[in-house]
Amino acid sequence: MVESILVLTHADENGMLSQASLEGVTAGKDLSVGLGAPLVIGVVAVNGSLATSLGFGNARVLCVADEALAQSRYASDAAACEALCRAAHASIVIVAAGSRFTRVAAGVAFRLGGLIDTHITSINVSASGEGRSIEVTRSFYRQRIEAVLSRDARPWFLLIDAGTHAAFTGDGPVGEVEDVPVELPSLRTQVLGLRAPQQNALTIRPEAKLLLVAGAGWTKKQADGQTHAAEAGDLILGFLRNTGASLGSSKSLVDQGGDGGPVLPFLTHMNQIGQTGSMPRHAKGLSTCCHGEEPHVVGWRFIADRRAISLDPNCGWARGKADVVYVADAFKVMAKVNEKLAAANEANSAVAAPDRDFQRSQEVDAAVLV
Ligand SMILES: Cc1cc2nc3c(=O)[nH]c(=O)nc-3n(C[C@H](O)[C@H](O)[C@H](O)COP(=O)(O)OP(=O)(O)OC[C@H]3O[C@@H](n4cnc5c(N)ncnc54)[C@H](O)[C@@H]3O)c2cc1C
Repeated sequence: MVESILVLTHADENGMLSQASLEGVTAGKDLSVGLGAPLVIGVVAVNGSLATSLGFGNARVLCVADEALAQSRYASDAAACEALCRAAHASIVIVAAGSRFTRVAAGVAFRLGGLIDTHITSINVSASGEGRSIEVTRSFYRQRIEAVLSRDARPWFLLIDAGTHAAFTGDGPVGEVEDVPVELPSLRTQVLGLRAPQQNALTIRPEAKLLLVAGAGWTKKQADGQTHAAEAGDLILGFLRNTGASLGSSKSLVDQGGDGGPVLPFLTHMNQIGQTGSMPRHAKGLSTCCHGEEPHVVGWRFIADRRAISLDPNCGWARGKADVVYVADAFKVMAKVNEKLAAANEANSAVAAPDRDFQRSQEVDAAVLV
């Protein structure tokens, strides 16, 4: 089968390609090289010039530009993606999962008479007797089973999971961009503004670079014979506010509410990391007051850079499961870390939008090294 590849991308609020889109471009480039197939980059933007300012090598670049595309809206995004697909005539359409395109990908596949697979973690080319074919992997049952899929149906839409590919950084000079006209349907949805949950209400942030894990130790009796759950909550939320990190938990800690023990009110089973929880993909992880038992640590499978703060020098983390273990009282360490982070935020004025500035993970590292 002669293949051709389209990667659907969109601009973010700054006009540049979104992080997920850049990951999609990498996936498309790799597949194009593996198959020796032509690559098209399709861009949805208000104004294409910024979004297409990266060189895409020898890929053809198509752009749908319209003022209405400043906002994420099903009708306009689906129409723009459909126009790009019809202009590109691709057999494989790669879409990187971000909130905007995840919503429309299946609908666009339907309009094109194609099929879609979601939660793709890798796209591979296998050589068989009849030539090269595409195989994709995805996980089922909370990532405990990995399946390898291939299909004959075309166009085949592949919605790839965030964090599975490196972000594309540019390839040679900027090439020519072809404008693709789009006729938008009547738009009934008007976006009047964005209302985000308060910082301390939103604790699960899949796009954060850093994961903070809270373990049951936070609510256990401390050296003074007392529990300090309220202080623990303040320290944890303070760290999240300062860094924009995502919050994970051990099973023991989230189970405690049901067992009648002291609880941290902002934690739910959605935060649980591990064998019976989730396996998030963050670049770095910091475990606090958690023992690092195997059923918990399997949830760290995709986290490469791991650190832990535990009072127990023989905890699971110290047995080869973390890169660095601080044998220390997490109450004291996190108070100091938060102090340093607050000062760093003050200095770079990112305190107004801590979620946006994930670049500060280096400062987090520096602060953790107390
Ligand atoms: C089938 C099965 C599935 C499971 N699935 C999961 C799962 O998905 N996720 C999961 O997390 N667990 C899971 N578990 C449970 C898991 O085995 C552990 O029991 C659990 O992870 C322990 O949680 P913890 O480390 O927070 O608590 P604990 O084992 O109680 O450890 C608390 C730690 O905090 C430390 N500590 C206390 N005070 C401080 C302080 N001031 N400073 C620093 N450190 C301190 C202590 O030294 C201790 O190491 C599963 C178990 C089974 C049998």
